[in-house]
Amino acid sequence: MDFDLTEAKRLDILTAVTNQLETVYNNPRKELVVSRAFDREAVKANAKTFSFEESNDPKEVMFHVIEGIKKQGVQVTHPSYFGLFNPRPSFPSVMADVINSYLNPQLAAWSHASFAVEIEQLLIKEFGKKFGYQENNIDGVFCVGGTESNLTSVLTAMQKHFPNIAEEGLSSLKGKPIIYASTESHHSMQRAARTAGLGINAIKEIPVDKNLTMNVDALRLQITEDAAKGFQPFMVVATAGTTGAGVFDDLDKIAELCKAYKLWFHVDAAYGGGAIITDLKHLLNGIEKSDSITLDLHKWFSVPMATSIFLTSNSQILSQTFDVKTNYMPEDGNPSQVFDPYVKSLQWSRRFIGLKIYLPLAVFGWEGYSKMFAQQIEMGNKLRTMLKDNDWIILNQSELPIICFTHPDIENDQALVQKLVDEMNVSEKTWISSYPINDQLTLRAQIINYATKEEDLEKFVRLLIEYKQKYSNSISDGNE
Ligand SMILES: *Cc1c(COP(=O)(O)O)cnc(C)c1O
Repeated sequence: MDFDLTEAKRLDILTAVTNQLETVYNNPRKELVVSRAFDREAVKANAKTFSFEESNDPKEVMFHVIEGIKKQGVQVTHPSYFGLFNPRPSFPSVMADVINSYLNPQLAAWSHASFAVEIEQLLIKEFGKKFGYQENNIDGVFCVGGTESNLTSVLTAMQKHFPNIAEEGLSSLKGKPIIYASTESHHSMQRAARTAGLGINAIKEIPVDKNLTMNVDALRLQITEDAAKGFQPFMVVATAGTTGAGVFDDLDKIAELCKAYKLWFHVDAAYGGGAIITDLKHLLNGIEKSDSITLDLHKWFSVPMATSIFLTSNSQILSQTFDVKTNYMPEDGNPSQVFDPYVKSLQWSRRFIGLKIYLPLAVFGWEGYSKMFAQQIEMGNKLRTMLKDNDWIILNQSELPIICFTHPDIENDQALVQKLVDEMNVSEKTWISSYPINDQLTLRAQIINYATKEEDLEKFVRLLIEYKQKYSNSISDGNE
């Protein structure tokens, strides 16, 4: 087969595949089963359908893959998926991946993709301004996820606090470097500490109050204790929208403390950062005083994975952290006017990640995004009301559409709560998670799909009641 196929063949495949995908995208409730049980052997066999020792019909291979993804995986784009931050991607953002793959712009160097690099720069400025950074200080870089953005924050904070380690490494430090984050922070911070060579124990987990926000008094105490022991505190990570319960640390108070102790102030706003363009903006008060921010666009902003922004109010720090001199990269004409993204990033060859947010933002505007977020917040409030009306108890205090709940019939039996979640997730009707709130296991449902409607919530609550009755009865029957 011709490696480029032929034009006729390509157009035929494109039409057929797009038609298939559009059918699903257009009617996910009918075309997709949100979740089911998977059999490892069957999935492995299915993955091996085509031999690499011969050529295969391209359309057949592609249809097979679409079916495999549909049937042997959780369908996060389904309006009854109430899981973990995985959105239905907006259509313009889907097209961004198509355009990127056709043209494959290389964003390592400005001179190879000047238009694309300038679009990303523009976006970084615009997002920085939304969070209240001073325009001239704003810098940032697109990342593949919150994990890379958070690692970038650790590396920049180290560069700022211990400038010698760029040459001399960690062994040149006099005391153990310490990062502070709450017990509710995302575990990618531990990954970052490991990857940066600091070790997991460099992260001191600060206890949370009853409402699950970082206890700032405990933070202050820990910092002073550590400093007195000769450790080197250098960074505090506040979480704005925790992964489990969707709560916001007190950014204003933490900012003050960071200023007093000269610590890098990073805000992990992977999901909750979207609140900046909603009526819940006040939850992010103080973020403008941060040194850096993680914002995942592949969560609330509803673009395909893998899309995140690392923002910083220190315009020099990224190049100080990542710049490496080479003799093989194309040089820019005038270094004071342009820059090469590869000198500001963990990545070298770079995809045009920013296009996935540029297209929807240009199409819908901030206004369109605000409305979409407001609609999801409203759906969250509706679900809360429906649950309460049916005697469920809500245990997390969040204004975001993340709801951790239980019921008097099951609340004392953690295994039963988990069983309910597991059974519902193979019911083919929904997917939810579980999360402990102050040591009590809850069912966790999040609205993350802008296409989720009230009817989906009603169906979900009916399912909850049905499963609770079915399983709490079976347990009490068993006891008799
Ligand atoms: C999801 C999440 C992350 C990790 O981001 P990825 O995009 O999955 O790498 C980090 N922090 C918080 C608060 C998150 O919710």
